[in-house]
Amino acid sequence: MSTTERQQKIRIVLVNTAHPGNIGGAARAMKNMGLSELYLVQPREYPAPRAVWRAAGARDVLTNAKIVDSVDQAIAGCGLVVGTSARERRIPWPLINPRECGARIWQEAHSHDIALLFGREDRGLTNEELHKCHYHVHIPSNPDYSSLNLATAVQVLSYEIRMASLADAEGNLPSLQEWDQPPVTADDLEYFHKHLAQTMADLEFYDPDNPKQLLTRMRRLFNRVRMDQMEVSILRGLLSSVQRIINK
Ligand code: SAH
Repeated sequence: MSTTERQQKIRIVLVNTAHPGNIGGAARAMKNMGLSELYLVQPREYPAPRAVWRAAGARDVLTNAKIVDSVDQAIAGCGLVVGTSARERRIPWPLINPRECGARIWQEAHSHDIALLFGREDRGLTNEELHKCHYHVHIPSNPDYSSLNLATAVQVLSYEIRMASLADAEGNLPSLQEWDQPPVTADDLEYFHKHLAQTMADLEFYDPDNPKQLLTRMRRLFNRVRMDQMEVSILRGLLSSVQRIINK
């Protein structure tokens, strides 16, 4: 697979961005580092002239950007989803540093689509959005002032992907182990979690009105496992059998 094809498997997803200048800045940062696939989830002010000014020579990235209504739409089809976070969250999640993030994204882009999520300027990504991710990545900034400008954060992480691609071109990036099945996509994983929650409710194992953290923990468990498509269809078949028996 060519370098360009691999770059095109990497989506930079900006969620609910407030300032159009940041969208332009992100587009420029991406193009400088060889990335092109920009997804905008409900941008608050877009299209906007300020985005075009800030994009400078990267207008094509803006023109090709996909504007979607939800994070689910932006990550549909992706086998790896990584979320950025300016601070520690309450439930720990598998955490990688920017260098590991660049390497992993470049390695996995060999076989499937990938999404890297960036949050709102004022409050980042919601917990629900972060729980859709396999990994969280934090740029190890000054703990007393940890939050980078959105476009700057895009720059840092795109640079790490660039460095991984250059290392790969020189034969200095190990490739991942071959697997017989493709990883489950984000959308199929979402159906699986709905099915699991419904089955647990049918079983009265969990009360949908008082979910506590059960569903979050299930998401974390299955995101950690990195299930493939075959494994998910086996589990969905199992859930259907359980439902058939209890709803008899
Ligand atoms: N007050 C918000 C900060 C959001 S900054 C919060 O506490 O979450 C806007 C976005 O820039 C973040 O959602 C993230 O995508 C990115 N970002 C900023 N600083 C970052 C850092 N240190 N590491 C990783 N991403 C960062």
